[in-house]
Amino acid sequence: MKSSFSILVLVSTIQLMTVLCASGDFDFFYFVQQWPGSYCDTKRSCCYPSSGKPAADFGIHGLWPNYKDGSYPSNCDPDSLFEASSISDLKSQMQSEWPTLACPSSDGIHFWTHEWEKHGTCSESMLDQHGYFETALKLKKEIGLLKLLTNAGIKPDGRFYSIKSIEEAIKEATGFTPGMDCNVDGSRHSQLYQIYMCVDSTGSNLIECPILPGRRCSSTIEFPKF
Ligand code: AMP
Ligand code: AMP
Repeated sequence: MKSSFSILVLVSTIQLMTVLCASGDFDFFYFVQQWPGSYCDTKRSCCYPSSGKPAADFGIHGLWPNYKDGSYPSNCDPDSLFEASSISDLKSQMQSEWPTLACPSSDGIHFWTHEWEKHGTCSESMLDQHGYFETALKLKKEIGLLKLLTNAGIKPDGRFYSIKSIEEAIKEATGFTPGMDCNVDGSRHSQLYQIYMCVDSTGSNLIECPILPGRRCSSTIEFPKF
């Protein structure tokens, strides 16, 4: 009697765990865009993609499933491999909007594979591989980050801008508060590196961030040229 009860509890627990895992349960996405000038002017430097120097525009870093408490799942399905053939229709957009800057120079497949395997596999219950990359490209277009900043007089001209003015320009144009992420240039000046926007778990709507990420920005930061 006692052992059949134990088996029942064990089976129910396994069933519950299966449901929880399969629902891919994450709370929202961070959509992270990166200023290439701030990746390249650091001590580490960068390598342009084999297709050539990217445009002077923000590039996509990634679309990252997250939990409300600030933690995040990663590498959720080792069996789900990145397949370039599944996004061949998006390839030229990927090259221009999601450029790799790591060294040695490459075509981007390595970077996109990393992003899919580490983050994309954790939102597969909502977005398949094609949907995942397509969603990120769509978000970039909708937000129009560089345009909204230049409209507010904030340009990649090597000058310094207050963090507040950048946050306010983004809030004014999109309705939502961004997360700001800075790094330092060769002279150790704090500069605009990445901007995080939050997106609901379907990938369709911007939302106010449940928890603001980002690190190490001074109150005034450089917006370097690229
Ligand atoms: P990757 O996507 O591997 O290029 O990594 C992005 C960097 O951000 C890594 O150093 C991650 O560990 C880090 N990171 C910090 N917070 C998060 C988050 N909430 N979601 C995903 N990556 C994060
Ligand atoms: P970070 O957020 O700078 O700590 O970067 C996390 C990881 O993602 C590091 O391994 C970076 O080299 C890599 N990474 C970030 N941006 C790019 C990019 N544009 N191209 C290639 N790798 C990148």
